[in-house]
Amino acid sequence: MKHLSFALFVLLLATSAAAIRAQENQAVRGADERYKADILVVMAHPDDEAFFTPYLVRAINDLHKRVAIVFSTRGGSGANHGARERGPALADEREIEARQACAKLGISLVWFLDGKDTASQDLLDSLANWGHGANLERLVGLIRLTRPEVVFTHFPGVFIGENHGDHQATGVLTIEAFDLAANPIVFPAQLAAGRSQHEFLLSNLQTWQPKKIYFGSDADDFKQFEGSGPTYSVHEVSPSLKKPYWRLALNSAMAHRTQFPEDIERISKMSDEQLEKLMSDPNTGWWTEPLTLIFGKSVVGGEPTDDVFANIKTGEEIQEVPANIQKRQASVAGTALLLGGPWQFYAEFRAAHGLENLRQTSTPEIGVKAGSTLLVPLTIRHADANQAMKVNLKIEAPSGWKVISGQGEFALPAENSTALRLEIETPALSADDLKKAKPEEVKVNAEADGHSIGEVKLRVLLRSHALPQ
Ligand SMILES: [Zn+2]
Repeated sequence: MKHLSFALFVLLLATSAAAIRAQENQAVRGADERYKADILVVMAHPDDEAFFTPYLVRAINDLHKRVAIVFSTRGGSGANHGARERGPALADEREIEARQACAKLGISLVWFLDGKDTASQDLLDSLANWGHGANLERLVGLIRLTRPEVVFTHFPGVFIGENHGDHQATGVLTIEAFDLAANPIVFPAQLAAGRSQHEFLLSNLQTWQPKKIYFGSDADDFKQFEGSGPTYSVHEVSPSLKKPYWRLALNSAMAHRTQFPEDIERISKMSDEQLEKLMSDPNTGWWTEPLTLIFGKSVVGGEPTDDVFANIKTGEEIQEVPANIQKRQASVAGTALLLGGPWQFYAEFRAAHGLENLRQTSTPEIGVKAGSTLLVPLTIRHADANQAMKVNLKIEAPSGWKVISGQGEFALPAENSTALRLEIETPALSADDLKKAKPEEVKVNAEADGHSIGEVKLRVLLRSHALPQ
């Protein structure tokens, strides 16, 4: 009896103490710190992480930064250079290769969006094939989950080079997500608190503004980006790992067996001296020395060439962000001829996202396969959307190129702008001629009511291989 009342007393004491504690302080769980990243890398395909790996090796091992990677596709539409599997099975393999490559870098936070690998140079094709909205929602959610300080992605622009539409679409999606993740009216279900113990729809995330965005470009002429961002040596020896940064980046790339098995075989048999020679030669090295991270924009100020983490206080919330996305006035007023498609989109997109300072070629350019049909998308902007109009298009093409369609007079309906398409058959070139080929210019002049409404030019390089436009 005596023991029982003592036990009761202790129990009462404990319960009332718990009640007082509960009144004082009921801890609410915060964000899961395991998923907080310093750098979020968003790339199109497994193996594209290599745009940045020499810097990532430095950031992870010597700057002690946390890195997360998102791939927008699983890379199922390329050729399998290693074995038989194709299509969805190849995508399954490439997802594993990407995870292995990232694991070698020490990156375990790896996600894949639902973009489908799309073989074209047109970012608008990629976005249409992926489902632009659903993937943007997913990426905004991943920014709110990982709360990155800086974001790395592909350069948004059309260039002579690899110029993959998926790369460009990934850059576009990432810029959009960068500008939207801090906006509480964007994808609000991600921010809504759970309503039950077993919530499965609402995410209870918080808004987040990454502080800076940087790009990697696959333009052939990388010199045009010199001075456009901070540079980091690829050949410097990592103080912690005692090896050059390129070496660890190369080790990581060896996981991509379906992409370049011959190179992997060759490289795996090379001595350290041979590898050093291969990677130091500008003609055979995989990375430029130094590596330039092309600056996009910053919400914490600073100069484009400042260090990536300059002005950044890790974990700091940016409260006041200028309205990021604004539709700007068209730079050309009245009736006008414009280069349409991706070029027109980029002109409007860069202005809307505050990226007017990004480098662009003085004349728009593209590389296409010799012997293929060149498509030149055109837009006629109408001064008066309520008036039908007539335009006359005149084309100047290099000798040996044949205009198939798109020249002569066109009767346009009354509307804001009309899309037209010019098709030009390009000549097939011999291997020798392809080696010597230089970009050539296509010019389009448009007249309405006997007056010129503008001229557009496109520099076109004929190549042995290029993705379809
Ligand atoms: Zn790629």
